Amino acid sequence: MTADTPQTAHQHSAPITQDVVTIPRKLPEGGRVNLVGLTRDQLRDTLIAAGTPEKQAKMRVGQVWQWIYHWGVRDFALMTNLAKDYRAMLAERFTIELPEVVTRQISDDGTRKYLLRIAGGHEVEAVYIPEEGRGTLCISSQVGCTLTCSFCHTGTQKLVRNLTAAEIVGQVMVARDDLEEWPQQGVPKEETRLISNVVLMGMGEPLYNFEAVRDAMKVVMDGEGISLSRRRITLSTSGVVPEIARAAEEIGCLLAVSFHATTDEVRDKLVPINKRWNIETLLNTLREYPRLSNSERITFEYVMLKDVNDSDADARRLVKLISGIPAKINLIPFNEWPGAPYRRSDWERIEAFADIVHKAGYASPIRTPRGEDIMAACGQLKSATERARKSRAQIAAEAGLQG
Ligand code: SAH
Ligand code: SF4
Repeated sequence: MTADTPQTAHQHSAPITQDVVTIPRKLPEGGRVNLVGLTRDQLRDTLIAAGTPEKQAKMRVGQVWQWIYHWGVRDFALMTNLAKDYRAMLAERFTIELPEVVTRQISDDGTRKYLLRIAGGHEVEAVYIPEEGRGTLCISSQVGCTLTCSFCHTGTQKLVRNLTAAEIVGQVMVARDDLEEWPQQGVPKEETRLISNVVLMGMGEPLYNFEAVRDAMKVVMDGEGISLSRRRITLSTSGVVPEIARAAEEIGCLLAVSFHATTDEVRDKLVPINKRWNIETLLNTLREYPRLSNSERITFEYVMLKDVNDSDADARRLVKLISGIPAKINLIPFNEWPGAPYRRSDWERIEAFADIVHKAGYASPIRTPRGEDIMAACGQLKSATERARKSRAQIAAEAGLQG
């Protein structure tokens, strides 16, 4: 499927392929190569190819890396510990380029939503959510999503392409710019740190863009730069089973899974990838994740949809299904979007559900919707250029619901 091929009904019944367009990771701009998003090894190769003697390469990588990711510098001329002619050479061949901020909206509750333009004129969104004692940046991994979860606004978007590692790291850097988070000489780092956590819960299925997500997270986790620990990064997947073990081994971050239903019949409709990898297959894979990634618990995300998946029986089935897996159940009150074929469960229902899960021994926080006034809440992201073209009836039909 090319970026502008309309999705057909058939693709909705079997939305399991990874038909997305990937553009070259190095974006030439006037022939120059963007250094953002290269891993240390890639940066080393790139600098050597540009004439840096191999013997100096490690040191040069360290210096350039620190300027870009520790200090947030964009201008090679400011890299004062490099010789002048070396700086000139870098400026001639390379750029340090971020996505362009099209708009920034700030919610009444302090949530910030950034609409970002990337190569090809595509747009993606990133959301910063300040909370007591922490600040979470929610970033996107794709423009749109090839999957078509029936409750998700992103899933109705037609155009899809994978983001490059540069565009994924770039979202973090753009937010750091806006929040003025880059360290300042003489000011302790803790005083400027506003992004304490990163979640891959924006637009797209991160495990269908594995390499770019992995490389971007390597950059974000690197101790000499942005320096977020792997335990402060959470990757959310709809359940791309074959890539889960790989994520444990090659990224090692925390995992969240969009579970959302307790029977295959319901999950097939809500999260259609379930038709490819069903609940049992998914759970068997999840059981291995904590050991493989040497991390604690898995977060089960569960969107609360009125009269669809929110009964006491569902809650009881859920705890039975996940028994033996170290887990936390994150209950997400459904966030409405124009044309959505579902309603949010009543508050008492959500609390009753949470109570059953809690009594079974699992933390069951109810996620407070944030930034709803600016359509920044979970599942509401969808860039303005690519607004819904589907009718409510069409979405409902695809979900196997009555119009
Ligand atoms: N594609 C990945 C990550 C992005 S979605 C995934 O599906 O896991 C981040 C979370 O928001 C997922 O759990 C998703 O199921 C949930 N979500 C999507 N649409 C939503 C909506 N309208 N209301 C509440 N949560 C939603
Ligand atoms: Fe894609 Fe996740 Fe939305 Fe499903 S919930 S359509 S996987 S972004």
